[in-house]
Amino acid sequence: AEFAALGLSAEVVSAITRAGYNEPTPVQARAVPVALTGVDLLVSSQTGSGKTASFVWPALQAILNARRDPAKKRVKGQPCGPRVLVLVPTRELALQVARACATYGLGLQGLRVAHVVGGVPYQAQLKALRAPLDVLIATPGRLLDLMGSGAAILSQVEMLVLDEADRMLDMGFIDDITAVAEALPPTRQTLMFSATFAGSVGNLARTLTRDPQRISI
Ligand code: AMP
Repeated sequence: AEFAALGLSAEVVSAITRAGYNEPTPVQARAVPVALTGVDLLVSSQTGSGKTASFVWPALQAILNARRDPAKKRVKGQPCGPRVLVLVPTRELALQVARACATYGLGLQGLRVAHVVGGVPYQAQLKALRAPLDVLIATPGRLLDLMGSGAAILSQVEMLVLDEADRMLDMGFIDDITAVAEALPPTRQTLMFSATFAGSVGNLARTLTRDPQRISI
């Protein structure tokens, strides 16, 4: 019930309850209802605060809503790109987000999640991108490489998430992130998570978001 009060549908709430949680963490309680309204959001919070769920839950809700929208019906034979794109700094974080999508997405029939990260062969990733997708999780450099080969369909992205944005900038991903964002529909919702929004992360937030709400935990 605590989770339904955030604005999430029964399909998502049942998977959360099955995970054994009793109540939302502070970042979830504050970020999820705002994210569900569709506005852009800048969240400063630390690892361990439950921040992964605070963007995965609204992402799954957006996918559910899209599935129920006749105007967004998937057509056989047409490209089925992801509705949600999550950019992360590392392979470990990509796996963690992918696992969270699987855990919280148990109630979404046939949820399709893929992750593409650097340092591993391209072939399997090209294949993963050709299949229909709901969520794509990626490190920015590898995604940009794959975009260059025409494999990534990003025209249907409704939500862009940047997880640990400060770490991505520390790793030198600024130009890659900007290039990826330029390939997305300008109408998308953007959620940024970072330990800080000072300096270059703040500049990036200004270029990627519109009238963002700010939440600091
Ligand atoms: P994160 O900050 O996203 O890395 O999450 C830290 C840990 O908190 C993860 O192991 C989650 O499974 C767990 N977690 C997330 N949300 C909740 C919640 N509402 N209640 C209890 N544990 C949670």
